[in-house]
This record gives sequence, structure tokens and C-alpha cells, in this order.
Amino acid sequence: MNSTPKEILSNYWGFESFRGSQEEIINAIINGQDVLGLLPTGGGKSLCFQVPALSKDGICIVISPLIALIENQVNNLQKLGIKAIGLKGGLKFNELDKLLDNCIYGNYKFLYLSPERLQQEFVQERIKSMNVSMFVIDEAHCISQWGHDFRPAYLSCSVLRQLHATPPVVALTATATKRVSEDIINSLELTFPLVIKDSFFRKNIGLEVQFTEDKRGYLKQYCQQVQQSAIIYVRSRRMAEELSKFLVQNNISATFYHGGVDQNKKTERLELWLKNNYKIMVATNAFGMGIDKPDVELVIHYQIPDSVENYFQEAGRAGRNGAFAKAIILTNTTDKVLVKKQFLDILPSVAHVKMIYKKLSTFFQIGYGEFTEARFHLNFNEFCSIYKLNTFVTYNTLQILDRNSVISLSENFSKKI
Ligand code: ADP
Ligand code: MG
Repeated sequence: MNSTPKEILSNYWGFESFRGSQEEIINAIINGQDVLGLLPTGGGKSLCFQVPALSKDGICIVISPLIALIENQVNNLQKLGIKAIGLKGGLKFNELDKLLDNCIYGNYKFLYLSPERLQQEFVQERIKSMNVSMFVIDEAHCISQWGHDFRPAYLSCSVLRQLHATPPVVALTATATKRVSEDIINSLELTFPLVIKDSFFRKNIGLEVQFTEDKRGYLKQYCQQVQQSAIIYVRSRRMAEELSKFLVQNNISATFYHGGVDQNKKTERLELWLKNNYKIMVATNAFGMGIDKPDVELVIHYQIPDSVENYFQEAGRAGRNGAFAKAIILTNTTDKVLVKKQFLDILPSVAHVKMIYKKLSTFFQIGYGEFTEARFHLNFNEFCSIYKLNTFVTYNTLQILDRNSVISLSENFSKKI
């Protein structure tokens, strides 16, 4: 008899229970339903398809945006004794051919590939010959122009349906905006999908805003306290290099990562950071999508992130193991001027404020009391002032003032004052 999802979870991963909506998603997939899962970073999206894939016949095909991510997931599965293949870049034709053969005849449970790989007709033909249990589109927001990482090749995911009509299609992302969800559903032609949105509240991350004219001094102090692992986000390549150098000069184990670093170096640095040989990764937003590192205890934004949404993604890389972690924004007078310029244009109307509020409320939830009770450290007013949101927080009401009007945003945020 087939094992139940719970048995699979405990036999392979040794976990006792499912989190959030994992079980609901898993059951839908087992019943053959399409799924759009909107779960926060670290919410456990991988298990949502890995568990049902093990209970079904055939191979689960996963489209994933980054080679590093593919390798990370395939390694993790292989360590658990699960047969998984990832298609790397730079494979010779006969290597690729052999790997795809394995997927057809070799009893493999997972095939991970990039969307670019999927565009190759040869690859599509071979997928047609596989016994496919389900298709998974990980980081599915990459399909949408409204997402923050639009990737044209992701549009080719729509071909999957033509290769096999019956296996469920499962789209997963941590981006929860309506536009992105609609784009995903339309592009992938999901039919009567189960759409699941989990709470984006991460109760083990303490959020802090540190106002200081001595950012370097603070950075050094915070980094000296890091036990295992941290990420420092900056906005330019030059700054990533400069700060990494500064930390190393102060005997702190650090390296840097940005779009201009060559591929081999990127892989090498990522690996060393994953193994905690480097404690601190100083990076631009080129770093991090989907990387599953459980023990990141600190994420610092040395410069202010360019949107609230990116901030959530990046801060959310802390504390994936559930341990208490911190996300700190370092900010100074110059930042305020910069951000003011940037945000005055995009926050002019009540509609915009409502939209921002929605984003904020999914992350912070409404009750400020929850933060204080959980020893939370967020200086909420400071955070909002950075983003030009003038706020006033009471126990279960968050009020936001835009430049023209005051809206009282209670649970249904409707009343206008
Ligand atoms: P996401 O893709 O949503 O960002 P991951 O799938 O990478 O998140 O999972 C994040 C971490 O949570 C992983 O280390 C994973 O092993 C762990 N995890 C996921 N589900 C559970 C669970 N039910 N119980 C315990 N740990 C879990
Ligand atoms: Mg993931």
C-alpha cells in the first residue's frame, strides 16, 4: 500500500507535522488538481510538491530559475536517498541525452530544469516520452511582468500542458500580489486551481530600523556578533565590494556577490557561504532567490531596498529554521532624501496607500500588540517613515496618512476620516 503524506514526511524528512497549508496543497495535488500556492519565503513550498511526488507514480518535473537553486534542491533530495536529476548548464549533448534517458527508463522521481532548457525542442520531445506525475513551476512570479524578477523564458512553461494534458500543474511563489497571481493562472492555463495563500507573517524575525550617521560602525558591530550566517544587502556592485573589503579588514569572514561576478566565482562563493566558511555575504539583489539556508540569523539592509516588496523577500531570508532572527535596516539622513524623491512619485493617491497597506499588513499583520508580546523590536513608525507612510499604530488598527487624506484602515480598511 502507498504511504500517506504524513508517513512520507516523517520517513524521509523526519518532520512530525505539516506547516500552514502544506497538507491541503498536497492533498489537492494527489487528487490531480492544479494548484497556485502563495507561501512566504521559508514557508516550505518545496515539500508541497516533493511529498506528493513520492506518493505518485512517475517523475515530477520542476522548472526552477537558477542553477544554484537546482543544485541545492537536487543535492538535498539525493542526500535523502531520493532519485533526482538536475540539468546543469554546459552539458554535452550525449550527457544531456543520457540524463533524459534516465528520466524515461530509470525510475527517477524528480527532474529539475531551467525554463531556458525547457525551450529546447529536443528536451520537450523527451519529456513527452516520460511518465510525468506532475509539473511544478517554482518561483512562478518570474512568469509575470508585474513580478520583481520577470524572466521571458518562463513564458515557455505554457508548453508543458501540450506535452502532457493530464498531470496537475503546480505553481509556487512568495509573491502574493493579485496581478502576479492572475498572470500565473492565465499563462499556465491553470484549470480550476486550488489557490492558497498562507500568512506572510514571520513571527520569528525581529525587524529593526537603525537610524545612524555611522553605518559602518554599526555594521561592524552587528557582524562581529554573527555566529553562523548573515546577508548584507546593498544597492550597487561597488558598494558590495567595498563593504566586503571593509569587513575582511576588520577580521570578519565575508565575501561579496553581484551580477558582475563571474559564474564560477559565484558558485564557489555561494557554496562556501552555504557551508559557513564565509559568515557574511555582502550582495546586491542578484543574490538569494530561493536559496534555502536555514541558519541565516541576520539580514542587514545597508542601503534602503527599492520597494517594500523586495524588502519582504530579502528580510524573509532570515530565520528559515524557525529560530529567532533579525532584519535590520541601517538608514541615515541621506537615505531619507533619496527615498523621499523615489517614493513621492509612487505614493500619491489613496489607492496607492491602500495597496501598500495590504502589502504591509500581510507581512506585519495588524496587531502591533503581537510584536511587543513576542519581544519584537520593529520600530514601525521609523519603517513607515522611510517609505513615506505616516503611520499610527494601535492594537488592531493601523492608520496610514497619505499626503492628501487620512484613511483609517481597520480590519476592512474602509472608513475614510
Ligand atoms: P520556500 O521554498 O517556501 O522558501 P523551503 O521549501 O525551502 O521554503 O523550506 C524552508 C525550510 O523549511 C526548509 O529547511 C525545510 O526543510 C523546512 N520545512 C518545510 N516544511 C517543514 C515542515 N513541515 N516541518 C519542518 N520543517 C519544514
Ligand atoms: Mg523555494
